[in-house]
Amino acid sequence: MSRINLSGWWGNMDPIATILQSYPLVVLDGALATELERRGADLRDALWSARLLRDAPELIRAVHLDYFQAGADCAITASYQATVEGFARQGLSQTEALKLIQKSVQLAVEARDTFWTNSDHHSRRPRPFVAASVGPYGAFLADGSEYRGDYGLSEADLIEFHRPRLAALVAAGADMLACETIPCLIEARALVRLLAEFPQVSAWMSFSARDEAHLSNGDRLAETAAFLDSQPQIAAIGVNCTAPRFITGLIQAARSSSRKPILVYPNSGETYDAATHSWHGEMECDAFGEQARAWYSAGAQIIGGCCRTTPDHIRVVAQWARSLPLH
Ligand SMILES: [Zn+2]
Repeated sequence: MSRINLSGWWGNMDPIATILQSYPLVVLDGALATELERRGADLRDALWSARLLRDAPELIRAVHLDYFQAGADCAITASYQATVEGFARQGLSQTEALKLIQKSVQLAVEARDTFWTNSDHHSRRPRPFVAASVGPYGAFLADGSEYRGDYGLSEADLIEFHRPRLAALVAAGADMLACETIPCLIEARALVRLLAEFPQVSAWMSFSARDEAHLSNGDRLAETAAFLDSQPQIAAIGVNCTAPRFITGLIQAARSSSRKPILVYPNSGETYDAATHSWHGEMECDAFGEQARAWYSAGAQIIGGCCRTTPDHIRVVAQWARSLPLH
């Protein structure tokens, strides 16, 4: 069995379980791309924020630090759209691509370590952890298909696609993996089978959803959660990059068939148009703090934001979370 460096988390394979032993809530971060654009980055290409791993790593590190300062207990790395195939299309070799994928973990770890060096930051909060983003196959296609899940690959094909990045993220020392915006059960099954090749590592499995009960491709969340409930490496299940109005129903659907901790990190409620690289529709996250309380009451124990949310949204959630009684 290969030796894997679980840097920093004291060898514990499940940082979420560790935090929930002492704290009522794990606060995730918010959107990375939105913040990078606010700082002047141009992300209108197929690699999205992954391109900045090569061109402006200091910006990514700075945004991670912003989220820790806002109160996030976790940084999700900039590897969502960073894949060997994606970088190859930009002319990078496999070795260069794997280095950039690993850099996403190093940047988040550096930001976390810088933040935690200051003991003023230790009051009523756990040491933050780094969750390495594993985006779906559809994110590599960059055509919006991660919100449809209609890419028609077999489970074996999906395992082959995900293996090199996942191995690189684990070897780089991520505390856990964040499988996110997964649109269909078959991709979750593929990732669970692949995880078994890395038995020391835990992962959360988070889906994009089309309504209060169904994943983006139409599979039922309750059935998907029932499958994941028996998987020992799955630390939490939930939904992300989904409109806030669906979240309470989705929490109930997950709870109906799983006892795993439930995580939610919705987007702003706007809809992404992959053809124009732009967002349309109404924002639904103006009262994010109140929404987070409702999701917590419904059973979510891990709460953050996805696309179009900002450190301000996370700050509101974190301030409330710190006021809750400790276990
Ligand atoms: Zn998102």
